[in-house]
Amino acid sequence: MREKILNILNNATGYVSGEEMSRDLGISRAAVWKHIKKLKSEGYKIESVTNKGYRLAEAPKEISPSTVDSLLNTGFIARSIQYTDSTASTNEDAKRLASSVDGTLFIADRQTAGKGRLGRGWESPRGSGIWMSLLLKPEISPNEISGITLIAGIAVCRAIGGSAKIKWPNDIVMGGRKVSGILTEMSAEVERVSYVVCGIGINVNTAAFPPELSEKATSLYVETGRSFDRNKLIAAVMNEFEPLYKGFIKNGFEPFRAEYRDLCASIKREVRIISRGSEMIGTAIDIDKNGGLVVMTAAGTVTVTSGEVSVRGIYGYI
Ligand code: ADP
Repeated sequence: MREKILNILNNATGYVSGEEMSRDLGISRAAVWKHIKKLKSEGYKIESVTNKGYRLAEAPKEISPSTVDSLLNTGFIARSIQYTDSTASTNEDAKRLASSVDGTLFIADRQTAGKGRLGRGWESPRGSGIWMSLLLKPEISPNEISGITLIAGIAVCRAIGGSAKIKWPNDIVMGGRKVSGILTEMSAEVERVSYVVCGIGINVNTAAFPPELSEKATSLYVETGRSFDRNKLIAAVMNEFEPLYKGFIKNGFEPFRAEYRDLCASIKREVRIISRGSEMIGTAIDIDKNGGLVVMTAAGTVTVTSGEVSVRGIYGYI
């Protein structure tokens, strides 16, 4: 059905009415509308005008690994790219192919089982977003791994620019909504990390979100009113990430602490810390030298380390 609707829109010279489409396709007008909404979530810019119908204004541009490659100025990050049209999860792909070279980037146009933290899902429709995972083989101890999420957050913010901020520890927000999420996973023996997978999802040209996400999710397109070239953005994130990552491996998080704190939308806000059934409310006041969130609560100051909690702003999503 999706292809049929795209065909009609592609072949039309002007607007096609919902009624005409519903008649030609033998489905209800409500069903036509649902398909249109789905296409919008994939980055198709479809105008709808009352009494006229629908018009395809712009189709999403493809991700091209060779284009990304031509835009890189990195030494080893993303120098090998594994691109696939559709996969369950790029983090899972990277883990399965963990014997690949350090810095390999796994990208998919769509994920069917994209992952968030703590078993949650990540909506990854085709055509509109960046769903990618970096395979890294750092020589650091397992308890330093959470810093990779933080520096990846800085890289995404720098690449996006504008008003992008970080909701500690792993989400990038614009206008109080989530535009990007980072999920870092690792495989380690007791004192030694064997590999790390840093997954980055960015809602780029998404024009509409499913109802359950519309309150908390946004895209670069929704925030700025313009479309972004995903190839350029992937390369920009990688170009920002490499020097941050090298610096982090060599000198730890401290050199990036001030920049992270400036980018962190959670600071000076009321936060509710939710951890395995128990809840604590306080004001986030600082980022400590290891990247932990320092929170002032009624019971005193506590430092929350990444990975163990979810922090929710009491007012709005941040
Ligand atoms: P949290 O924000 O609670 O820390 P995660 O970082 O684990 O959660 O991200 C997963 C959550 O993000 C999902 O439960 C869902 O609410 C939301 N989400 C899922 N897909 C997207 C998306 N494409 N854009 C923004 N938010 C999303």
